[in-house]
Amino acid sequence: MTLPLPPHTRPLGKSGIEISSLAWGMWRFAGLELSAARAAIDAAFEAGITLFDTADIYGFGDQGFGKAEELLGHIFAQAPEYRDRMILATKGGITPPTPYDSSVEYLTKAINDSLTRLRTDRIDLWQIHRPDVLTHPQEIARAIEDAHTAGKIRAFGVSNFTQAQISTLAQFSPVPIVSTQPELSPLRIDTVENGELDQAIAMDLAVMAWSPLGGGRIGDPQNAREQNVATALSAVATAHGVSRTAAAYSWIMAHPARPIPIVGSQNPARITEAADAFKIQWTRADWYSVLVAARGVPLP
Ligand code: NAP
Repeated sequence: MTLPLPPHTRPLGKSGIEISSLAWGMWRFAGLELSAARAAIDAAFEAGITLFDTADIYGFGDQGFGKAEELLGHIFAQAPEYRDRMILATKGGITPPTPYDSSVEYLTKAINDSLTRLRTDRIDLWQIHRPDVLTHPQEIARAIEDAHTAGKIRAFGVSNFTQAQISTLAQFSPVPIVSTQPELSPLRIDTVENGELDQAIAMDLAVMAWSPLGGGRIGDPQNAREQNVATALSAVATAHGVSRTAAAYSWIMAHPARPIPIVGSQNPARITEAADAFKIQWTRADWYSVLVAARGVPLP
């Protein structure tokens, strides 16, 4: 029996916004030449991607806080049609060296600053990047409601939140949580087994899978476990005439929570090729063979 193919587009939770089933991410974007940056975005469009994920902190370190958003804002100023073709997601709340701040004052400022850097009047999906356990959820809810009412953000999501943090915040927030962004790949299967994906189904959250290639290690395995996962993916990839990395994206999308791999490559050819993920129809046996390789021990 084969599993159903994922749709090319799907709803962003209860937001009323339609998004692609693959996203493209800008963690590694700051510092690119303008032409290379545009070529990467063009490749994502060519792959059918409409959901673009950045964060205020991307660029921190080598380039500086805000530099990935600034680069994208520069492109929007040059070519406004790029903004119109995107469902634009960004995040805030990581405040080095504090390290996290979700106070109403900080979140309000973070959203305003992102709008300025991105040179846009709206963020389609604004996400809290990491939980600040020192802010009461009621206060977060107030910041989000204000930004939503003002039209600055169209939808609200979280990243790296536990299930308890998501359900507690949801109780207080009049603006629904429509997405969650955990690390998820054939090398990082916690969410498959700990109930996070089940919660996402129950709450109608779009799951955005960060580091879907394990930061590149699916392409370049570093130890025996990673090699076993790569071998299991390659067997399926070869049978379908696609790359191992496309098989990794496809494995993620085959789960019924329909997680959205955030393609992290900045290489146009690799970005375009991600669309091959839609060519694989998984059998249960093949899908579980990758899970077992990732677990390193047989299923009960
Ligand atoms: P990833 O796809 O797991 O890793 C991308 C890296 O793998 C790039 O350096 C890429 O290099 C390399 N790569 C791609 N194909 C390869 C291959 N065949 N062999 C060897 N290396 C290969 O994704 P990621 O960049 O770590 O994360 C993706 C997105 O997730 C980010 O952009 C961001 O939007 C999001 N994210 C979110 C969080 C969070 O806390 N919410 C954390 C991390 C990331 P090339 O560019 O040269 O192809």
